[in-house]
Amino acid sequence: MSKVKRVYKFGNKEAEGKADMKNLLGGKGANLAEMNLIGVPVPPGFTITTDACIEYNRLGKDKSVELLQKEVENGIGHLEKIMGMKFGDKENPLLVSVRSGARVSMPGMMDTVLNLGLNDETVKGIAKKTENERFAWDSYRRFVQMYGDVVMGLKPASKEDADPFEEIIDELKESKGIELDTELTTDDLKELVERFKAAVKNITGQGFPADPWEQLWGAIFVVFDSWMNPRAKYYRALNQIPEEWGTAVNVQAMVYGNMGNTSATGVAFTRDAATGENIFNGEYLINAQGEDVVAGVRTPQQITKEGSLRWAELAGISENERASKYPSLEEAMPGVYKELFDTQLKLESHYKDMQDLEFTIQEGKLWLLQTRNGKRTAASMVKIAMDLLREGKIDEKTAILRQEPNKLDELLHPVFDLNAIKEAVTVAKGLPASPGAATGQIVFFADEAEKYPVSILVRNETSPEDLEGMHIARGILTARGGMTSHAAVVARGMGKCCVSGAGSCIINYKQRTLTVDSKAFKEGDWISLNGSTGEVYEGKIATKDPELSGDFGKIMDLADKYRKINVRTNADSPNDSKVARKFGAEGIGLCRTEHMFFEGDRIKAMREMILSSDETGRRKALEKLLPYQREDFEGIFEAMKDLPVTIRLLDPPLHEFVPHEEENQEEMAKEMGISAKEVKQKVNDLHEFNPMLGHRGCRLGNTYPEITEMQARAIIEAAINLKKKNIITIPEIMIPLTGTREELKMQEEIVRATAEKVFEEKGEKIEYLVGTMIEIPRAALVADKMAEVAEFFSFGTNDLTQMALGYSRDDVGKFLPIYLKKGILKNDPFQVLDQEGVGQLVEMGVERGRKTRKDLKIGICGEHGGEPTSVEFCHRVGMNYVSCSPFRVPIARLAAAQAALR
Ligand code: ADP
Ligand code: MG
Ligand code: MG
Repeated sequence: MSKVKRVYKFGNKEAEGKADMKNLLGGKGANLAEMNLIGVPVPPGFTITTDACIEYNRLGKDKSVELLQKEVENGIGHLEKIMGMKFGDKENPLLVSVRSGARVSMPGMMDTVLNLGLNDETVKGIAKKTENERFAWDSYRRFVQMYGDVVMGLKPASKEDADPFEEIIDELKESKGIELDTELTTDDLKELVERFKAAVKNITGQGFPADPWEQLWGAIFVVFDSWMNPRAKYYRALNQIPEEWGTAVNVQAMVYGNMGNTSATGVAFTRDAATGENIFNGEYLINAQGEDVVAGVRTPQQITKEGSLRWAELAGISENERASKYPSLEEAMPGVYKELFDTQLKLESHYKDMQDLEFTIQEGKLWLLQTRNGKRTAASMVKIAMDLLREGKIDEKTAILRQEPNKLDELLHPVFDLNAIKEAVTVAKGLPASPGAATGQIVFFADEAEKYPVSILVRNETSPEDLEGMHIARGILTARGGMTSHAAVVARGMGKCCVSGAGSCIINYKQRTLTVDSKAFKEGDWISLNGSTGEVYEGKIATKDPELSGDFGKIMDLADKYRKINVRTNADSPNDSKVARKFGAEGIGLCRTEHMFFEGDRIKAMREMILSSDETGRRKALEKLLPYQREDFEGIFEAMKDLPVTIRLLDPPLHEFVPHEEENQEEMAKEMGISAKEVKQKVNDLHEFNPMLGHRGCRLGNTYPEITEMQARAIIEAAINLKKKNIITIPEIMIPLTGTREELKMQEEIVRATAEKVFEEKGEKIEYLVGTMIEIPRAALVADKMAEVAEFFSFGTNDLTQMALGYSRDDVGKFLPIYLKKGILKNDPFQVLDQEGVGQLVEMGVERGRKTRKDLKIGICGEHGGEPTSVEFCHRVGMNYVSCSPFRVPIARLAAAQAALR
């Protein structure tokens, strides 16, 4: 005898399990037990543990039966006693359901069998005892159908084929000239049972088991097996549910919603799962069983009268028809409705969260079959938590911890109008690269984005030169590239809707057409993108703007009350800065200056600088760039008034700025008064084998100090100009890509010397800091030395990840998806900070940096700054702030609060 307990019983207001045993009993089992304990009517049953499922996977069926047999028999005995029935008895047979139930709910992913225990003998007993022959045979044909499908595997032969059982039903209906299942007579049902069994035998070669015990064991192991079915696997992968968890099996006495017109079955929510409104709602069907409500064979009816009236109005159904054909439960069975209403109140106040319920009414008596915290939209997640807080049911901390930070993303981007999207026609599907909804007219070139008031940029792929156009466009569609393509990364940063890698899109730049399958779109045609699903729609679809108001604003205020670290934003323009500020950013953690060199005439001056053969030439070109930069900084400083702004000096390799097409090279040559050949030669000279590890970052400033001088001057002059208007900023000047103290020191000296010079010229001083990005592993290792020079650190975890793992960020698309699928990596390390590895460099950098400079200001500015688990890490290692794209600021604020509360 082993001491391990594998079966937990419940029934008659008693239970061996309870709600907090979800890991062992699964969510369904734990809550069935709990409902018994709080006096909610639940048919008795027992739960076989998730451990038993894992044990079965290891030991196989025979050994597993041996280990379970006693306890399962004992469990059935428990049901027999409570129900006063006997499993397999000819006169008074007990029927059971066998239900799956994992730790977290995986709706519809795994299998369930109802009415188990029926055979040619017991069906007669049921018919006699209930004096309802039709009901008995209806249950039997349902059982053979379900068991035949789920346990014996009689499924459609291919995805084009019909369900074999439904086919048989349809044949019979046709031959009898009837339409509805409810029109089938008892004899028809008997006929169906025979035909079903014959089909099972025919196709699977196995006879349908008559012995209830054989049926039961078959079902138990099929439920265990369903943990590993492809649907469940896919769902787990999508939701990061570990395979090791396993599923529990619930065996429960049947209650019948199909016993006639005083019986029914339904599902209900204690609040509205879409909007969060505190309105009890749901659907039910009279004389039906189990999944009938969701299966869509009959039109379900509303539970409340209010809901029913609303439903009828939307469906265009007259009051007469509604009241006679589709009455609410409230109207049809007022007594049971009242009981159900009270029960849902009781359950919600017990669980202190919105509940999703399953119930069955057997001849006027209510039974609850399931309760769980209901799935919900982001809007309802926020509203329900705030409502429960106001109702005094939960406290502030719970309200914050109930939020899924990533889900807030839904609320931070424009969304399609719900009604408009119903009519939409999908033309292509790509990757959901950057969430949100966008609708606009097609343009094929970034510099034509302004051609229409609202445009969608459609490209094979994008490049840094397209940045401005990407900014102007409402959305971006690319035919190539993955989730980390240029288009995807930049779009996410901008909070702009993007669908990438839509392979079926064929773009002809010359003719300015987009062809998908046989459909052709021209420039100026309307299309719409859903960046959250990857869908591309034909035509114009109405969208709505996001707002940080109402309860969303309130939950953010609460988050601010509890969080310990600051949240800044990565922003390169006054407009982004304003958006981020609206979302609660407390400064800029990363302002990239290179983006400022692409717009209009600037790119020309930039190219002139790069292509000059000597310092004099470069200085002349930089002279032209200075006013642009200064103006940009003034705009950003003003938008970020009173808040810190970290500006990163020029970072990318220079070849990204020069013209690669002959046409543009010729134009450039003309402008500079040199030959096209010379331009071409210079462009070729800039070629590097590995530009990301090449001549970039502080290496540029150290080889061409005049670039750093110009940038430092632009920053300091901008701050002084604003000071004269009483707008105070403390710029934080950040040197990128340093790996040695000397590299940093040389840049720092240039910055400080330039600042002194400007102070003298202007007769005015401002405060500023000089610091560095820690993104080269060596810099983290020698952080104590770096901190001798740097007044602040900002961890550039994009490059740090790239260099620590040795994964080129631009090439990772080739193997990362495979690594994720094979489980070599759990997450994309460019999205979720690799705490185990890269995290050590960060921790070391923080610790060593602060050893030299106790009050060293430290933040993070990689994409990780807006990812909840990474934010928690930053909180833990003692950073002062995280910085993320404007649209992730609220997510980071919330994640920071959760980190502080956990
Ligand atoms: P899922 O997890 O996919 O919802 P369930 O195990 O909850 O599957 O069962 C499917 C359907 O069968 C539900 O509508 C449920 O209410 C119903 N059902 C399950 N067990 C019983 C039972 N003992 N008596 C009546 N109906 C049941
Ligand atoms: Mg269910
Ligand atoms: Mg970098």
